[in-house]
This record gives sequence, structure tokens and C-alpha cells, in this order.
Amino acid sequence: MDLPVYRLKLLDDFRCLAGDCPDDCCGSDWHIDVDGETVARWQTLEDATLRERLLGALERVEADGREVWRLVMAGRRCTLQDPDGLCMVHARLGPGFLGRVCREYPRQSRDFTTRRVETLALSCPEVARLVFSATAPAEPFARPETGRDPDDPAAILENFVGRVLRARAPAAARVVVMARMLVEMSRRAAEDRLTLDGLKGLCGNVRKPVEAATRELRSGRLRPDSETAGRFWTLVYRLTSVGKKERIDARVTGSPLARMFEREEKSESDYAALGTEVKRLREAATNAVRALHPDPAGRYLAVKFTSSGFPFAPFADNYIAAFLFAVLPLSFIQLYLWILYDAKGSLEPADLVNAVYQTERIDAHSWRIYRYIVDNPAILHLDRYEGCFGELL
Ligand code: SF4
Repeated sequence: MDLPVYRLKLLDDFRCLAGDCPDDCCGSDWHIDVDGETVARWQTLEDATLRERLLGALERVEADGREVWRLVMAGRRCTLQDPDGLCMVHARLGPGFLGRVCREYPRQSRDFTTRRVETLALSCPEVARLVFSATAPAEPFARPETGRDPDDPAAILENFVGRVLRARAPAAARVVVMARMLVEMSRRAAEDRLTLDGLKGLCGNVRKPVEAATRELRSGRLRPDSETAGRFWTLVYRLTSVGKKERIDARVTGSPLARMFEREEKSESDYAALGTEVKRLREAATNAVRALHPDPAGRYLAVKFTSSGFPFAPFADNYIAAFLFAVLPLSFIQLYLWILYDAKGSLEPADLVNAVYQTERIDAHSWRIYRYIVDNPAILHLDRYEGCFGELL
């Protein structure tokens, strides 16, 4: 059966910047696997020198319990790049001889259980620029209109998430409403009393909970205490910067706040100091971040949710894990911008693009975050730090 296709409207607008790319994907220190079909084509090339050169750039490694061919890196760069930065395969043989990953990136076509999603990876700077440009469509994805089952829980959830994202309210209020609904839904499911009618009831009204969260936000009731905030932002920093910190602007990773985050042993008062410092940075940078885009958080979540399969394909059957997979990188993007503003005293649109694509690049589209969430189920208790979502823009 053909799956209904959700297609990013910007897909056809994308053009690789190639030699003009500010941070090309051939130098990103990623694991770039080469599919067996491509290796077989390289093995039959008539030009023996070129054949040996290409095959010499491959290594056989084990990944996820199976052996794969992988491109060798020299430092962060692919060894098949010419000295002038051009891809040798592309230049000498044409795009048809590239491995599938290189041929398709940043385009992604992913089949979830009930949907196919055709999208672009936000880890490419040109994709991030397109997504946050003033002319990008307000609704990022074209969605099929037919074949929707009104009793399909995934469709009910998706409808709810879409309406919340489109609500005219601060992003923080919208994120809190989604978090609260997921917490309640999960609680009922754990008690084995989540019915279809109950789900429809939870998802039926968007306006009232959004208005209530907006009121709480504006009256200051949706603010975490400093220690909770310090613990939350430490988690956000650690999750998104472990391992590949060099991917992130050095002004962010070398900042006094980053050094505080990285200190291993922390007391309660250390966390409280961190929470207070983040609050100071956020308040100082809020207007500058808002000037970059009218709704950066809503735009990011609208693309990230659908691209990662939320809510119609929850990770490990866990909607909260899938939700956090998008919200934690968003939190880091904001933290990045707040620290950057503190370092340089201003922000420009390119800073938002950099914050997005560099965050997405940390570990090949942030799958590290997903693994961390699944391995640390305590993170799934959203209600403990819902006030921290009130600090989002
Ligand atoms: S990161 Fe994007 S724009 Fe840059 S070289 Fe790769 S695909 Fe092209």
C-alpha cells in the first residue's frame, strides 16, 4: 500500500552551495557509509588508478552489529576531496557514482509506519537558511488530504500538535500545552485507562489550554525555581554538546556559562547560580532573538516534529521521548543564541542559521539525544521541569 506522503514544500527550492558552502558536509567529521551497490560500481571501473584511489578511501567497519563500507576521513574531511575542495567522485564520474548518502544528503525520505516523509536535513546550512527565510511557507509540509481516519490516534495527535503549533501564542505556552497533554495522556495510558474518546477529549480543545498557559506565562507563574532551571539547562547543554563540541561556535563553548555547565561536581547552589545566570542571559537577549525571526521556535518545531516522525511515529512507543527529541535541541539553539548575544552584543540572521545547523550537526542529526533520552528515563518526567519550557521564546 502506498503511504501518504508528507513533503517539505521547500524541497524543490534547495540547491547545494557546493564550493560556496560555508561549512560543507564533506568536512563535517561524520561517518559517511557507502552502500554496497556503489562499492560494486567502483570495483568495476576501467580506470585502474581512479579505481584504486576510490577503493583505497574505504574502510570496512562494524556499525550497529553489521559490517559496512565507510569513507576514511583525514581529520574532519573526506579523503576523496580534491585539494580545491571538490568531490573527486562527482568531478571525475558524475553524481551517479556517488554513494547513496552523498547523493541524497540533505534530502531525506523516511517511511514511518503510516506516513512517508520527504524532507531536508536542518544540519545543512543552506537548508537552515531556507527554512528560516522570510519567504518560507508558513505551513512547512504539504500533507495528503485524503485517507484520514478520524479514529486514528496518530491522526488525532497530529491534528492537535498542528493546531497548537499554529496557535497565536508565545512558543513557550504552546510547548507547555503539548507537554501537559502528553503527560496526561501517558499517565492515563500507564493506568490502562486511555480510551479513544478520552484521547479525543484531551486533544479536542486547543484554544483554552493555550490561553491558560499564556496567562500563566505572562503572570510569571510559569517560571522554574533557579535550581530546577540550572539542572534543566545543564542537561540541555550536556545532551547537545557531548563529544562534538568543536562543531559549535567557540564563543559559545568557551563562555563562562559553558565552563560552569561542564564542571562535573555541582552543589544545589551551583545549579541555582546557573539557573540565575541563564535567566539573565535570556532576558538580555530576548529582543535580539525575536528580531531574527517572528517565530523561530514554532518554525523549528514544525519542521523537526514532522521530519522526525512526531507524533505519528513515537520512539520506542514513547511520545514524550519523541517530543523531547525535538524540544531539547530547540532549547540548545536558544541557549546558543543567548550566550552568543552575551559574547558579541548583537545577533544577525546568520547567527540563527548557524545555531540551527550546528546544533543539528552535533551527532549526525542529534541521534545521540535520542539515545540519551531512552537510556535515562528520568528525563521523561516533563512535569518536573515544565516551567523551564516557559523560558523558550
Ligand atoms: S552542507 Fe548543504 S549546501 Fe553545504 S555542501 Fe553539503 S549539501 Fe551542499
